[in-house]
Amino acid sequence: MIIIKIMIKLQVAMKTEKYDLAIIGAGPAGMMAAVRASECGAHVVLLEKNHVPGIKLLMTGKERCNLTNNETDIRRFAAHFGKNGKFLLSALSRFGVTETIDFFHKHNLKTKIEQDGRIFPESDRAQDVQTLFLRLIKENNVTLLTDCRIKNISHQQKTVEKIILDPAEIKAKNYLITTGGLSYPQTGSTGDGYKWAQQMGHTVIKPEPALTPIAVKEKWVRELEGLSLRNVRISIYQDHKKQEECRGDALFTSDGLSGPAILNMSKSIGRLLVTGTTDLFIDFYPDMDSHALDDRILQDLQQHNNRAVRNILSGLLPRKLVPVILEAAKVDPEKKGNSINRDERKRLRLISKQFPLTIKSLSGFDKAIITTGGIALKEIDSKTMRSGIINNLYFAGEILDLDGPTGGYNLQVCWSTGYIAGESAATLWYTS
Ligand SMILES: Cc1cc2nc3c(=O)[nH]c(=O)nc-3n(C[C@H](O)[C@H](O)[C@H](O)COP(=O)(O)OP(=O)(O)OC[C@H]3O[C@@H](n4cnc5c(N)ncnc54)[C@H](O)[C@@H]3O)c2cc1C
Repeated sequence: MIIIKIMIKLQVAMKTEKYDLAIIGAGPAGMMAAVRASECGAHVVLLEKNHVPGIKLLMTGKERCNLTNNETDIRRFAAHFGKNGKFLLSALSRFGVTETIDFFHKHNLKTKIEQDGRIFPESDRAQDVQTLFLRLIKENNVTLLTDCRIKNISHQQKTVEKIILDPAEIKAKNYLITTGGLSYPQTGSTGDGYKWAQQMGHTVIKPEPALTPIAVKEKWVRELEGLSLRNVRISIYQDHKKQEECRGDALFTSDGLSGPAILNMSKSIGRLLVTGTTDLFIDFYPDMDSHALDDRILQDLQQHNNRAVRNILSGLLPRKLVPVILEAAKVDPEKKGNSINRDERKRLRLISKQFPLTIKSLSGFDKAIITTGGIALKEIDSKTMRSGIINNLYFAGEILDLDGPTGGYNLQVCWSTGYIAGESAATLWYTS
């Protein structure tokens, strides 16, 4: 029954006159582009292989959708994307953070700002963002075709001719690919757009997982699974040299570490792992220097001098962490506070400020928040998102070679590039 319905929908889509714009991929970038293009008067068809658009969007921000970041200075915003960030300046100056927030407010989705400028829907529901786009798609008469099976994109020299579906074809004046990257492939992002782009002559910078958790060699971390660490300092070392340092929250997983501080360093950790053994150190007390920490430990030991040290340390460290710290510092957990000697205290202090772990690997695409790599930016016009190789082809969103840190930066790329691509593809016609 569902198959018959889809076929009827496809036939109807084919019978209508040629579309102004055909968009492949109904994630955040594709949906924003479809809405903007139709607002500009274009007759738009949006093709999605899943049964529902925006599956990954629903998972964002732990299902609360960190939809952007309150960094309204476009240069500072772009700097979060490294050397590729300058590509974003045009799009951000046309439709940046302020315009995005205005867009959501105009459509009755209220927002709130949290720690580090992260902006969420006031309702804390990613689903409200998806529902909003579904409503706008409908109100703007975008033809939405779900459960699409695209066989290929046919092109002649510098022009896309049509999208070949199973069993139909879609023709449009302009085409936009917003199929995302390779992370969380179960959501539909399986890298199909890269393949088509390459066939049409585009360079694809090797896609790699980014913003990923890490696995460590120490098996006992399993016992700490679920323990979250607030505002710790994490340092990465190779050959006894500090390579990177970051302050923030982290989380123990069954085989390693995750959380914003880890995710944001994962790209550089990945590069270091290629060259050799990479160690990670956690400072649980970044705001206390060694002297202050020593005073604090001494004070606690003296205050509770008749209690076992494992109980005394529970006032200083998360309870789950205490046995691990004591073992690493080689201190008997049952020893009383008044019998801990200076050396033992020193070891406790050192281990609390430089807790060592050996990094084994990064998690793969199935746990990566974003893909680094993608369509080479030098082949895309940053003002319009139009391909510099195929005249009637555009790209937007994660498929581009852009990846930022956690905090709403990556969705903002989708809103900004999607908006610009939709507007340009609705208004710029190529004539040969
Ligand atoms: C768990 C998780 C949490 C995240 N949280 C945040 C967050 O809070 N804030 C933030 O800024 N970023 C977050 N991100 C990153 C963010 O989700 C992505 O950057 C964003 O979804 C990319 O949007 P996109 O439209 O480019 O691609 P996608 O969201 O990947 O959408 C691509 C769409 O194209 C469709 N498609 C693919 N191939 C085809 C095909 N052959 N035919 C038809 N359709 C196709 C897919 O089914 C999909 O619907 C998170 C990512 C993950 C995995």
